[in-house]
Amino acid sequence: MNRQCLDCQTAIIGRADKKFCDDQCRSHYNNRIKSEDDSLLKKINQILSKNRKILKAENPNGKVKTKKELLLKQGFDFNYYTHHYTTSTGNTYIFCYEYGYLLLDHDELLLVKKE
Ligand SMILES: [Zn+2]
Repeated sequence: MNRQCLDCQTAIIGRADKKFCDDQCRSHYNNRIKSEDDSLLKKINQILSKNRKILKAENPNGKVKTKKELLLKQGFDFNYYTHHYTTSTGNTYIFCYEYGYLLLDHDELLLVKKE
């Protein structure tokens, strides 16, 4: 089987475990992987940061009821959060950093802030 450089796809001649033509291809490849990794992290961090900003703006006093729709209109993404907390009574609060919410009936939310 012909082996190819992971970076430039040129056929490789040499040791069976050789993956790249040379150090230049190796570092080019590794840099590309790292930058794809970084941009994924950056994208998720941006969503979390936006979610937190929206929760903070809607909840200046630490506790308030609001509508789910109001957050959605501002671009809140309910798929992303940092952690959750379930109380002894079985309610699960979802958090984006120190700001959280509890889903209530009728698409209402109780916004909270963790001190
Ligand atoms: Zn190469």
